[in-house]
Amino acid sequence: MHIQTDIIILGGGIAALQAARKLSTRFEVHIITKSNMTVSSSYKAQGGIAAVISKQDDTNIHIQDTLVAGEFHHHEDNVKALVEHGATTVRTLLQEGFPADLTPDGQISLGLEGAHSKHRIVHAGGDATGKNLIDYYLNTLPENVHVHTQEFAYELILNSVRECCGVRVKTANEEKTYFASYIIVATGGAGALYECTSNFANSFGDGIALAYLAGAAVTDMEFVQFHPSLLYVNGARGLVSEAVRGAGGRFVDEDGNAIMEGKHPLGDLAPRHVTAYEMYKIRAQGKAVYIDITNIKNFEEKFPTITKLCQDNDVELANGKIPIAPGSHFLMGGVIANTVGETTIPRLLAIGEVACTGVHGANRLASNSLLEGMAFGDLMAENLLQVGKIQTNFVLLDDTKQKETFLPLLSKEQLQRDMLANAGIVRCKEGLETLLTKLPQLNFSPDLSAMSSGQIELLFMHTTASLITHAALTRTESRGAHIRQEYEQKDNRWEKQWIVFQQGLMNVRDHLYEHNQIKKYARAIFQ
Ligand SMILES: Cc1cc2nc3c(=O)[nH]c(=O)nc-3n(C[C@H](O)[C@H](O)[C@H](O)COP(=O)(O)OP(=O)(O)OC[C@H]3O[C@@H](n4cnc5c(N)ncnc54)[C@H](O)[C@@H]3O)c2cc1C
Repeated sequence: MHIQTDIIILGGGIAALQAARKLSTRFEVHIITKSNMTVSSSYKAQGGIAAVISKQDDTNIHIQDTLVAGEFHHHEDNVKALVEHGATTVRTLLQEGFPADLTPDGQISLGLEGAHSKHRIVHAGGDATGKNLIDYYLNTLPENVHVHTQEFAYELILNSVRECCGVRVKTANEEKTYFASYIIVATGGAGALYECTSNFANSFGDGIALAYLAGAAVTDMEFVQFHPSLLYVNGARGLVSEAVRGAGGRFVDEDGNAIMEGKHPLGDLAPRHVTAYEMYKIRAQGKAVYIDITNIKNFEEKFPTITKLCQDNDVELANGKIPIAPGSHFLMGGVIANTVGETTIPRLLAIGEVACTGVHGANRLASNSLLEGMAFGDLMAENLLQVGKIQTNFVLLDDTKQKETFLPLLSKEQLQRDMLANAGIVRCKEGLETLLTKLPQLNFSPDLSAMSSGQIELLFMHTTASLITHAALTRTESRGAHIRQEYEQKDNRWEKQWIVFQQGLMNVRDHLYEHNQIKKYARAIFQ
């Protein structure tokens, strides 16, 4: 089956929906998602959206908080665009009627989260912000946005001048090919590459593998954020948001001692890589860690999602302690894109967690991710609306590259265990090298034509895992969420160095963009 249209968006999270609602004012838009529209990290988001909307706050402070949390490994102009355009997008959403939580006197209630120096987290339904946000977008989705669920995108199609012009998709019983003027990848992160994760079980980094295999440049893959507090009852059971600590929760050990005291000036609200590492070290000694919630009044009312999670797992909140463990949560790296989504392949755009625009540095600031999807989904759409409809060349590339028909793959569970053990919170040379012997080479070129969706998904997991592992082995320092056992400190020689993968090669560069990408970025932002 063949469909030809203006815009294809892969993914059904916040980035996709923000882009779709704006693009639909001029274009025919098709959204394709491999599950249903409520299976995304966006839907699971708890804490909220970080945005400068209070008079007591200032964009410069939000920018500074972002840079400090991410250890200054950022593209600073893009951070400015995120914070400024993000705040505008959030304000617009509030003005149009999004039901954010209010204070008793009718103002927007702003929460506090780790490494933020101001209360600036807009939330809805207490800790059910993502659900409320996605439900709101779905309920207000324009009619000319066509949603296709249970369709797995597995291959990008290039035309004879190497522009992206389509995507191949598998459904339960057929193959489909979509052709469009623009293909937008908004497929989210890769948390489920690890055994212990806050993400949905199918968050495998498909979009990164799709784009990389098509020839797009990918970077910052060594920076995988582990969240310090996943509910842990015989395994990870879901997230216990940082907002719980923002409301007065404290990390404690088995004996009730405060874990973060004296470890960081921000204590329990230190950046995630700091708190996750502290939890990891205690658990590595075979001891349990908890969040003490005895200081939080009306916990059930403030955190209904976490309350239900605890009840479902027989955790008695009356005891005042929630058992936790760190788990993989967010990928700072991804497909190199600018703030209008442009990647290194013309007409292939990337937005949201799948993209790397350099706004999260080496460790993302809490609640900056929904903001990213909204800000850059919106900026990208604005830019395409200005460009308008274009003539597309649908003469396909004659790809003569030799494809590999067989690749030895680990089982999904084995890969997840190996990733956690060797490319998890703390990495060492030996573990990473052993892991690499089990993963595909960077220059592999698989023949997907005869593979099932499940086999391709497993192959994508291996591809993304290979990029993470190569990058983690190459960066011989500890910075943000990338912690190397043999190199405990930051090394100045690695400052503002990006490990970039493209076309089977790995390079270390001191810039994020190729020259022409920066020019286009400037056009979109300053026009
Ligand atoms: C439990 C949890 C809580 C969080 N809380 C917050 C928070 O409070 N604030 C915050 O800012 N961030 C939070 N985050 C992070 C944030 O939710 C995500 O980074 C963000 O929502 C990503 O949005 P996205 O649109 O890029 O991707 P997602 O929301 O992850 O959506 C990706 C979409 O792509 C689809 N997809 C993937 N692969 C394919 C494929 N091959 N073919 C077709 N479709 C595909 C998926 O089905 C999904 O619809 C949280 C994350 C988690 C997991």
